[in-house]
Amino acid sequence: MEKRFVYADNAATTRVSKTALDAAMPFLTESFGNPSSIYSLGQKSAKAVLKARQDTAAALGAERAGEIYFTGGGSEADNWAIKGAAELGAAQGRRHIITTNFEHHAVLNTCAYLQKHGFEVTYLPVDENGFVTAAQVEKALREDTCLVTVMYANNEIGTIQPIADIGSLCRSRGVLFHTDAVQAVGHVDINVREQNIDMLSLSGHKLHAPKGIGALYCKKDIILPSLIHGGSQERGRRAGTENVAGIAALGAAITEAVGSMAENNGRVLRLRERLIDSILEIPQSRLNGSRSNRLAGNINVSFKGVEGESLLLTLDMYGVSASSGSACTSGSLDPSHVLKALGLPDAFAYGSLRLTLGDENTDEEVDYITEILPKIVAKLRSMSPYWDKLCKAEGIYDYVKDMEF
Ligand SMILES: *Cc1c(COP(=O)(O)O)cnc(C)c1O
Repeated sequence: MEKRFVYADNAATTRVSKTALDAAMPFLTESFGNPSSIYSLGQKSAKAVLKARQDTAAALGAERAGEIYFTGGGSEADNWAIKGAAELGAAQGRRHIITTNFEHHAVLNTCAYLQKHGFEVTYLPVDENGFVTAAQVEKALREDTCLVTVMYANNEIGTIQPIADIGSLCRSRGVLFHTDAVQAVGHVDINVREQNIDMLSLSGHKLHAPKGIGALYCKKDIILPSLIHGGSQERGRRAGTENVAGIAALGAAITEAVGSMAENNGRVLRLRERLIDSILEIPQSRLNGSRSNRLAGNINVSFKGVEGESLLLTLDMYGVSASSGSACTSGSLDPSHVLKALGLPDAFAYGSLRLTLGDENTDEEVDYITEILPKIVAKLRSMSPYWDKLCKAEGIYDYVKDMEF
């Protein structure tokens, strides 16, 4: 069998598209002016920033371009929204925040930071399928709740949360609602107005723009305090000379992603379903998180008696880039907090594999993974004393013994 290179980690990052690169290139070369300069070289940059702001606003259904603030990525947007809302809340004596236990660490660790500074945080548990409900949020709401932050789609298991329901609840109760939509933008239909979203975080490198650029949507009537103080860029709310090339790339990439979303999702979903069906034929395997209401490209599976890191390294030898838990969790021996939140038994949580397909993946690549994965899993199990013990303890038939490698 011929070795291939298959990139199946699109939730970790994506390749910069030709569209995004073409949009960025002039601002890395001849058009290098500072957008704050009044001469024409600078104004060319300022125009590109404005165009990207308009395009980003349009992609999200925002009322106006001025509701988009460019940031240094998704983590900064999350930090800004949450710390800013906390500051606004504290000024009114409201120091309670509601979130979930399976957020990205950019949200969880920001909330943990605020807990050290006098805020109370309620972490809603997700169910075994990977969802929270508006009813859970409603039960947790208090007089002093200043912010609800619930991710749009989970980065590990791809489950899509009932954002419009939570948005309308928060709007009716006068509580700010933020969503980390880093995994959702460009993959799910989003309309911040119809869904009553007050603040939304997104990141360029998850949708074919470069790393280090992101945006925060912040509804026009919210006067969010600054996270980064300095010059008057981003209407005085986020200081620092604009990343013009990154911003131009983000505007182009988000427009392209939203424009080709329906077509891409149809194709990617078909690939995903085929791959899930074939993976679940491997004995003692399971899909983590609901199969419906899930990002089109997300596959998260577990194999009992297999160690996730070994699986990743072996897949890499076969040219397949994938992930186990989340990229930030790699290097740690704990099972991911998301899989724990689903209540996954350790035997499954340790042997997890995330394959995230994107618009560049092909049928041939799915065939390749389908062919090598069962063999790799069997091989790892054949070498694992843990698998042997498991078979005996649970009366599992040790199919590996019948295989030839
Ligand atoms: C990647 C990711 C982030 C962080 O975005 P960066 O641009 O890498 O800082 C935040 N939230 C989610 C859900 C993500 O997937």
